[in-house]
Amino acid sequence: MTAEVTIIRAPRLFGSEGTVHDHGASLWIEGDKITGVYGSEAPAVPENARVLDFPDGCILPGLIDSHTHLMYGTGERMSGPRSYDHVNDEDNDGLMLLRSVRNAYQHLLKAGVTSMRDLGARNRITFDLKDGASANLFKGFPTLHVCGRAVTITGGHFHFGHEEADGEAECRKSVRRLVKEGADFIKIMGSGGGTYITDNRRASFTVSELRAIADEAHRHGKPCTVHAIATESIANAVEAGIDCIEHYEFVEMNYDRKLDPAIADQMIANDIWLSPTIQTGYRNKESMLALREERPLTPAEQEVLVYAQWKQEGQLYVTGALYEMGARRFLMGTDAISRFGDYAVGLRLMAESGLPNEEVLYAATRNPAEAMGILDDVGTLETGKVADVTVVKGDPMSDIRAVENVQQVVKAGYVLPMDSLELFPEGDGAAQRPAVRKPPNPKVVRLPHHHPHPHPH
Ligand SMILES: [Zn+2]
Repeated sequence: MTAEVTIIRAPRLFGSEGTVHDHGASLWIEGDKITGVYGSEAPAVPENARVLDFPDGCILPGLIDSHTHLMYGTGERMSGPRSYDHVNDEDNDGLMLLRSVRNAYQHLLKAGVTSMRDLGARNRITFDLKDGASANLFKGFPTLHVCGRAVTITGGHFHFGHEEADGEAECRKSVRRLVKEGADFIKIMGSGGGTYITDNRRASFTVSELRAIADEAHRHGKPCTVHAIATESIANAVEAGIDCIEHYEFVEMNYDRKLDPAIADQMIANDIWLSPTIQTGYRNKESMLALREERPLTPAEQEVLVYAQWKQEGQLYVTGALYEMGARRFLMGTDAISRFGDYAVGLRLMAESGLPNEEVLYAATRNPAEAMGILDDVGTLETGKVADVTVVKGDPMSDIRAVENVQQVVKAGYVLPMDSLELFPEGDGAAQRPAVRKPPNPKVVRLPHHHPHPHPH
């Protein structure tokens, strides 16, 4: 009895390392491994093989999201009753952990994301999530790389995650504590961000603090990545030897977005991974534009729209300009906080910024696999690698929007039942705690008429 072979056939296959087939392709899987990648000339199909045909499909390596926050997935974060701060106040770690499971499956089944790097949660939420996945509680669950908590200055961005550190000694201790708890890499909040009271035009950690974190992380064999919106924080990260930069929005003190060519040159020369999280402005822009169709925006909403448009314009410009300067180490990351499963939007925006479709696909597959240190297992379609596969409809090499249409996902050889997405509904993930029900007509019930006892005397 030989192992059962699963064969995926489609007209196109993107193998990442120059193995693009566009005249018919097939991918052979046995157990959890890829056992063959063929163009139009494949061997004869064995008798017991399970054959999956996708007549207009393209076979891609399982997609990778290098920037998630799995504990959220709570709808639009800037407005409405489920704002970011409200969620942090109202939702306990248990609810966030459960929601992380839903979010991961949504991202997997809807967008074909088979590996995720989570860039910050509260307390032990993502450590516990990873423990659960390792305990085989779920089938076909995505591969997770977690930082656990992001290291931040006292009162800094994401301080509610509970890993505040000040000074070099505390920074080193934070890294050691996170590694002890199971961090795969270290995430640093290098500037302010969306957290109330923080200022995204200002760097948070000093260069010497960043250097302490990077050095300590590297001593443990862990890479580190930094959230850096302010220009000053990007410069600090480059100087400190950080491996990867998130957002890199180049925001100045006067709120101009101005790509600094000297810093950009160093980012490229130092081979720093570049994770633009290019769709974060787009999400808010789209939701405000949709709202404006329904009713006039309030002044506060108008402000959100203007901010989102400015942010989005800057994100596309900076990533396009970096590509023109020679940058190639881009990573696709959604920064998914509000919604999971809209990964393909970011790929389209990367293409709009000026990256060729092939580079965009590298940013979604090979590059993040290399940045996460898992390229030996995933990131390309090659014999011997783990069978993480995403089949999309159409030809993403000619039109990147094809990635919006995921037809089949395979996780470590397991062919996921695609209709199981309906088990993980959309919604803001808020717990319903109904108040005690009151009767419609409450009334006062009086004691029977009172007959006073005669006095004994
Ligand atoms: Zn983030």
